[in-house]
Amino acid sequence: MQIALTGTPGTGKTTVAGLLPYRVIDINALVRGGMNLGRDPERGCLDADMDALEQRLKELDSDEISILEGHFSHHFADWSVVLRLAPSDLRPRLEARGYSPEKIRENLEAEALDVILVESVEFCRRVDEIDTTGKTAPQVAELVARIIKDELELPPGQVDWLIDFFGWKID
Ligand code: ADP
Ligand code: MG
Repeated sequence: MQIALTGTPGTGKTTVAGLLPYRVIDINALVRGGMNLGRDPERGCLDADMDALEQRLKELDSDEISILEGHFSHHFADWSVVLRLAPSDLRPRLEARGYSPEKIRENLEAEALDVILVESVEFCRRVDEIDTTGKTAPQVAELVARIIKDELELPPGQVDWLIDFFGWKID
């Protein structure tokens, strides 16, 4: 059984996955390792080979729980746990990675507009959403572990970043 740990880049997926007592499959590592269609000329990043990934992940699937970790892992699992982070806290993490201003803006907008959450709801039968803002990585890992053990359910709708990001308040 494969459960996706997904979220906008910088929300803490890799850190949290490393704290879980499950096998972790790093989707980005598979892409870098050859499951790609070359470099996207405009964006400079590797274009994932989604069909090859899907097939490889099917081969790796077993009765044991494993975590698919990466910002498009939700394309490949029936269940995804989405990490969320207030854009104002996400910004310094993306800056620390040396991302370009455009790439930072693009990722902050995606987080503010729930892009990965909405995709997850589209692709997955079950989606849980964790607001990691103000939580340590071990605290987030504990929530993920309780969700996976089915001791906790956090359905979509945990956060609303429109005030944080755009200054909008919709009543
Ligand atoms: P992702 O894999 O989602 O892109 P990372 O796990 O690489 O994100 O985390 C991005 C940065 O944020 C890293 O420097 C990491 O140490 C830090 N980080 C991750 N989770 C937390 C947390 N809960 N609180 C504070 N910093 C965190
Ligand atoms: Mg990562």
